[in-house]
Amino acid sequence: MRLSQMLFVTLRENPADAEIPSHKLLVRAGYIRRVGSGLYAYLPLMWRVLNKVSQVVRSEMNAAGAQECLLPQLQPSELWKESGRWDTYTAEGIMFALEDRQGREVCLGPTHEEVITAIARDMVRSYRQLPLNLYQLQSKFRDEIRPRFGLMRGREFIMKDAYSFDADEAGLRKSYQAMYTAYCNIFQRCGLKYRAVEADAGAIGGAKSASQEFMILAEAGEDEVLYTDDGQYAANVEKAVSLPPKAAPSPFKEFKKLACPDTPTVDRMCTFLGCEATNIVKNVLYQAVYDNGTMVAVLVSIRGDQDVNEVKLHNELTNLAADYQASKVLKLDVADSEKWGVAPLPLGYIAPDLPDAALAGAKGLVPKFLRLADKTATETQGFSTGANETGYHVVGANWGAQYPTPGRIVDVRKARPGDRAIHDPSQTLKSARGIEVGHIFQLGVEFSVPMGATFTDETGDVKPLFMGCYGVGVSRVAQAAVEQSYDANGIIWPVAIAPYQVIVVIPNLKDTEQVEAATQLYQDLNAAGVETLLDDREERAGVKFKDADLIGIPFRVVTGRSLKQGKVEVVKRATAESTELPLTEVVATLQSWIGDAIAQA
Ligand code: ATP
Ligand code: MG
Repeated sequence: MRLSQMLFVTLRENPADAEIPSHKLLVRAGYIRRVGSGLYAYLPLMWRVLNKVSQVVRSEMNAAGAQECLLPQLQPSELWKESGRWDTYTAEGIMFALEDRQGREVCLGPTHEEVITAIARDMVRSYRQLPLNLYQLQSKFRDEIRPRFGLMRGREFIMKDAYSFDADEAGLRKSYQAMYTAYCNIFQRCGLKYRAVEADAGAIGGAKSASQEFMILAEAGEDEVLYTDDGQYAANVEKAVSLPPKAAPSPFKEFKKLACPDTPTVDRMCTFLGCEATNIVKNVLYQAVYDNGTMVAVLVSIRGDQDVNEVKLHNELTNLAADYQASKVLKLDVADSEKWGVAPLPLGYIAPDLPDAALAGAKGLVPKFLRLADKTATETQGFSTGANETGYHVVGANWGAQYPTPGRIVDVRKARPGDRAIHDPSQTLKSARGIEVGHIFQLGVEFSVPMGATFTDETGDVKPLFMGCYGVGVSRVAQAAVEQSYDANGIIWPVAIAPYQVIVVIPNLKDTEQVEAATQLYQDLNAAGVETLLDDREERAGVKFKDADLIGIPFRVVTGRSLKQGKVEVVKRATAESTELPLTEVVATLQSWIGDAIAQA
């Protein structure tokens, strides 16, 4: 491609709405343009990058035995009602749902479990058709509450999604393992530094489900990863587990109620009472709305130095859904008790035994607290906690004495950097930021049972299909690559996914010798399969060099002064290393450098 003929516009200034380097660079270098909130045009250079990432994904999926297909983006609500996800996805607002002219509800696919399960239900009859893995590459739609960082969190973005079907759990584990390996290959081949981490698998009853995320480590990542240096443990903070720090011995010798004015926080209690946060049991109020509309006041007791992990809490509440004749949690928030229509609660001074009478008169609320105690709280002795009266706390309290032994002991604690690791307490957890570029998930029978996707096994029994789902955020991967590789002058693409591998720059268009040599090289390189751009624009040499650096093409060939000696200058973008090569060796040398760079990835 000749730059003079390409839609190629670079900007000197950073776009005002871009916060992170990769977003700034992709806009400045003319790869993407914002069309609306979370909506981007992929311009010609970007489209080539996206196609390269897609090709790597395709080749690894095909090698793992998955088959490519393409499913409709417009999906009927009926399928989502069968799976039970229509209400959750519309209530959370993440799904673009609309009504067509016949008054039918449809949505723009945020994901395709429902569609693929319906296909499997129609087409898979026998164990002989299993295992099966189908995948597609297409745009997904999600009405993200905070679209940001360019392609990182868009409202329309490109995803590869794959779905596996197996006869049993052992089969599922094998399919999952094959996808795990394929994902490692994909990110490695794209030239990315990545890490696979344990991820939250939600509260799927029955079979143990496993889930892992693939993270590109970068400061701008929206996810926090906790890991140990021995390489034995890495998890998304949402899922991470650890040993809590040891509690300080209790300074409280006997049980007492004390006037503690203006001490509604753990910090103030510690100062006022002269104790450690580990000597306190704090009681945090949440409100959960289940899918049948039931709202429950949740009182979580946890040790004063710890915080509630709301993802874990959500899972615990899902496990208890049946107690409320519900199946899912639609919404979980810190309690807004002022809106409950009850007498003011002693917020900041609540005890684990805050009476249910406190909920008297509440509108639309189950009149009974759901009380959960985190393990850290239950292990605390001689503790201080609220006295259910504003301005008063108790000290020297014990479970089984002043407070009933908790009925529901859970792990809803947020693991933190510095915590001791469970597999080896001499290891402490460290924290890193990550960009989630892929997610693999054992679904088990979560969709096949409600949707009735079954098969007949060898013995003639009818059984539900065991499913897995596997996503790669193709457009997010492309931007994450930039976030991981750039410098003050611009993007430095990994060779494997660069839009072009080489750019031939003609410093002076008036010099016919330069023009001829460059054009010849450009043709020879392309003919040899080296994807090459020719910068033949009427611009100053300095502008061309700057643009070549900005767009991040791995190798730059310059037909400059040394042309008189039959040589050209070749510059490596990543290291700025410059070499003079005889014209006759340019093609072969670049071919071998490109081959090496791709093989090393
Ligand atoms: P996130 O936690 O970042 O919101 P998710 O867990 O909802 O993502 P999945 O449903 O697992 O995402 O989707 C598979 C992959 O699609 C993710 O690993 C991510 O790479 C990508 N992805 C998800 N949401 C977006 C988005 N809004 N924009 C770009 N890529 C996305
Ligand atoms: Mg995810």
